[in-house]
Amino acid sequence: MATSTATAKALTDEKRSPSGAIVASMIESAGRLKLDGEVVELLRTSWREIHTQLPVRMDNKKLRIFEGYRVQHNGARGPYKGGVRFHPRADLDEVRALAMLMTYKCALMDLPFGGAKGGVMCDPVRMSETELNRLTRAYTQHIGMLLGVNRDIPAPDMGTNAQTMAWMMDAYGQRYGYTPGIVTGKPVDLGGSFGRDQATGRGVATCMREYARLEGTNPADIRVAIQGYGNVGSWVCRVASELGFRIIAVSDVKGGIHNPAGIDIAAVDRWFSVAGSVAGFPEAEPITNEQILEVDCDYLVPAAVEEVITGENAGAIRARIVIEAANHPVTPSGDAILAERGIPVLPDVLVNAGGVTVSYFEWTQNIQQFRWSLERVNQELESRMVTVFNDLMSRVARDGTRPRQAAFDIALERVGRAIMLRGFV
Ligand code: NAD
Repeated sequence: MATSTATAKALTDEKRSPSGAIVASMIESAGRLKLDGEVVELLRTSWREIHTQLPVRMDNKKLRIFEGYRVQHNGARGPYKGGVRFHPRADLDEVRALAMLMTYKCALMDLPFGGAKGGVMCDPVRMSETELNRLTRAYTQHIGMLLGVNRDIPAPDMGTNAQTMAWMMDAYGQRYGYTPGIVTGKPVDLGGSFGRDQATGRGVATCMREYARLEGTNPADIRVAIQGYGNVGSWVCRVASELGFRIIAVSDVKGGIHNPAGIDIAAVDRWFSVAGSVAGFPEAEPITNEQILEVDCDYLVPAAVEEVITGENAGAIRARIVIEAANHPVTPSGDAILAERGIPVLPDVLVNAGGVTVSYFEWTQNIQQFRWSLERVNQELESRMVTVFNDLMSRVARDGTRPRQAAFDIALERVGRAIMLRGFV
């Protein structure tokens, strides 16, 4: 089947859903690569999707039935890998889209994994610890037949954390025996890796440093605005300020702060530990989450939630470059406007891949029953981020594509080759 057949229609139809947007990028990339049409057909949908009910006895003794999902998109390059999200809007299509992204993210980073994602539609903020424990165990039991150290390895995502992974590991172990490598992002006491908490933010800051090097600009002359001060955003702030970048604006869900002269991140950390938010930090002016995206800066780093740069506000972005620390922070229409305006976007599949990279290190450490030092983890992470960054930018220079397109091209080429070599089609 010719790749180009019906491509235009697919692009418009499919951009209407989150997974459609990823499929559209894949089809576009397959066209550039002249990839076998049957490979494209295989990657358009998931290899396997489980949608399961999760009955949980709540603390008030009433039964609640939650919906859970595990989507395995493609496993040609290795066992399925991807986080589990507990969120009120975690529906099947969102989970499917994130599973697809994981296939391409792992391939781009050259990790020996396929792509998967899991989700449970629930509001973890409104649930007690015992309810979350029971829900996690029910979920692990219901998808347990798919999991395995060489089959599918979950990790934390929005609404889940190291504790959730400890419960998953325990629930899996009760049935199949002690298996720390079944999940990553575990507490260090249970075989988690040193450095996993800072890995994503550290990877983002490494991309910023490499981009500055490419531009020939001194980090001290680069003004950075970061939306989000959670796990990713706060570590981007810490590592980027260590690297000498001038952080001029930061925000979290409660509001933001702005100081064109630069913000002292160690002082913000101290403020945050008392106030529970960056908002109100005295040595800066208040700024809203909408304003921070349009602030006058050099590097804009959305590190909070999805779809914050859209067709509505992309025209007002004043940054020279957008660095996607969050997953999917720029919508396809926002992306098109930024492209027209000549503002490069460093894509999420590269920028936030530090997390899955250190998850890979955790898995390898568990398999070898050996622990690396924090220094070794950070060194290996940095080396892989720099290699992939350089491969990506060389591809951009060679093909004249945008970084997101180049990332898809590299990843899809690898996934396509693995599919053909394994004889799936
Ligand atoms: P987090 O929950 O620790 O932090 C999220 C931050 O965003 C918080 O500061 C929160 O206050 C802020 N926020 C929430 N809603 C907001 C809104 N509507 N407007 C502005 N700010 C808002 O989450 P995280 O782990 O830091 O993840 C952030 C993003 O990075 C997500 O898109 C996630 O999928 C992605 N990501 C995370 C990792 C990881 O290792 N944690 C890895 C890859 C990708």
